[in-house]
Amino acid sequence: MLTMEHLFLYWNKLSGKVKQAEHILLLSDFDGTLSPIAKKPELATLPELAKTRLQGLAQIPRLTLGVISGRNIKDLQQKTGINDILYAGNHGLQIEYRDIHFRHPVTSTIGEILSRVDYDVKLVFANIEGVLVENKGLTLSLHYRLADETQIEEITRIFNSITAPFVSSGKIKVTSGKKVYEVRPAVDWDKGKAIEFIVQELGFKNKPLVLYLGDDVTDYDAFRATNKLAGISIYVGQENINISARYFLYSPEEVSSFLEKLADLFASPQSELKNKYDSDTTL
Ligand SMILES: [Mg+2]
Repeated sequence: MLTMEHLFLYWNKLSGKVKQAEHILLLSDFDGTLSPIAKKPELATLPELAKTRLQGLAQIPRLTLGVISGRNIKDLQQKTGINDILYAGNHGLQIEYRDIHFRHPVTSTIGEILSRVDYDVKLVFANIEGVLVENKGLTLSLHYRLADETQIEEITRIFNSITAPFVSSGKIKVTSGKKVYEVRPAVDWDKGKAIEFIVQELGFKNKPLVLYLGDDVTDYDAFRATNKLAGISIYVGQENINISARYFLYSPEEVSSFLEKLADLFASPQSELKNKYDSDTTL
């Protein structure tokens, strides 16, 4: 049976893999992974230290860095604030990186459906405190982190009744995450499919070593895709053998330490020597 191991306990083995890889594709979720979960999505921020470390990693030619999130891509770019890295928004329905400009051909009616759900939900929940609706164009989130515990059942029931007609007509699907329901177009596309697409689009002769970090249900598809690509899947949270990630880190703070460890691998005296040797031989 597969088990989940704390990443730092296996760092020797994993760092060897990273050092040997011709190219590394480091992809991370944002909320709850790079940024601690905030009470409201707009309050989430990328801690300065993690940002500095990501900026450092973004400079490494042998590594491609990307952030993939349920947020819309503009919001994600703004929250992350790092130039020239890959961004995937709306759970991978939109991907932007250099000359990659991808938008999944979801049904043209999705915008209209989400507007209707948005309108109905806002109307119905106007009197229930702590429910936030976020229409992100291609997906919609209903956050209930701030709602009273006793009202969650009722919120769920009402939300389901609003979305049910569109779910049964095959237009949308509803998934749940940490104190959030996500309305997504009913297409066969998720963060896992997005990773496979990204790997293909980057067009490396040999497959890159994929490292994926995530903390929530929509990341599970990404873990499976990463495992299939013989990559390193990392769950952020308490060890949980029901999740298919091979490794775990407890918190965004540990993720930040991981980013530092990773950066150190590229700055080690050994790799500097190698660079020096390489440049000497080209003289
Ligand atoms: Mg997350």
